[in-house]
Amino acid sequence: MKRVGIDLGGTYIKGGIVDEENRIIARGATPTMAEREAEEIIRDMSALVKKLTEEAGIPLRDIAGIGIGSPGTIDAGSGIVLYSNNIRWDDVPLAELLGKMLAEDADGSVIKVRVSNDANCAALGELVCDTDTGVQSAVLLTLGTGVGSGIILNGKLYEGEQPGGAELGHMVICHGGRQCSCGRKGCLEAYVSASALVEDAKWAAQEAKDSSLLELTDRLNGRNVIEAVRQKDPVAVKVFEQYLEYLGCGIVNIINIFRPEIIYLGGGICEGFDLMEETLQTYVKENCFGGEIAAVAQIKKAAHGNDAGIIGAAALIEME
Ligand SMILES: [Zn+2]
Repeated sequence: MKRVGIDLGGTYIKGGIVDEENRIIARGATPTMAEREAEEIIRDMSALVKKLTEEAGIPLRDIAGIGIGSPGTIDAGSGIVLYSNNIRWDDVPLAELLGKMLAEDADGSVIKVRVSNDANCAALGELVCDTDTGVQSAVLLTLGTGVGSGIILNGKLYEGEQPGGAELGHMVICHGGRQCSCGRKGCLEAYVSASALVEDAKWAAQEAKDSSLLELTDRLNGRNVIEAVRQKDPVAVKVFEQYLEYLGCGIVNIINIFRPEIIYLGGGICEGFDLMEETLQTYVKENCFGGEIAAVAQIKKAAHGNDAGIIGAAALIEME
């Protein structure tokens, strides 16, 4: 059966109908306008689902369920968004509210609704879209404003037994190190988010006084740091080498715990994946426990971007 996947973001609610082969056969989006009451946002989400099913000519009762990827800390069992800074939600029973709104339009049929963290959905989406069939275990890191992560083990999403798990961005790689947004010091996120790379590049450019990055200081972002690395700006290259050491350290920790087959890297920084791949793969081989004698994860670029969020959300609904 077909399923609906929703990617709830701070700016847009994106949705799609996903078929049995994990292809998006109808898609749409509506502005989130996150400053509104949660119920109004969920009503728009419900309208988006109805619009998509109508466009695809599939009655709501013939949809296996609705999966939603939401930012923040989610109680997946009950479908409650416990807290999300991004959309400013506190204790919102998303699954229940959306289920009720949709049931009104589905002759009272029960519509299955599942919710998970957006990075978890992206990880699941990457795995189900990966053409290397047979892969059962993967970890995704998204290198954006923060660092999101999702863990797939034995083909299934591993969210932890209680809400708030699988937050690999908040593993400490330097005790007492940089301040992280979560309140601790030294988290991976404080070193490998796009924001951290940009801050490091700004500092280094100001110190060096002769980098091409200096002209960009006010509008520096992950993409133009990567571009400067590509242009072989010595300051940018040095900052990026250090960045890859931090990222390598985090990836090795993840591999030492889960030994997944694949590590997917996503986010804007990965436009420079070709500049990262070999260095990271070598670092991992040299530093993983038993890396010299045992197989280590392949590091791949998360190739499906926004679609992975929608497809992965839909994949929260078990196919019958
Ligand atoms: Zn943290």
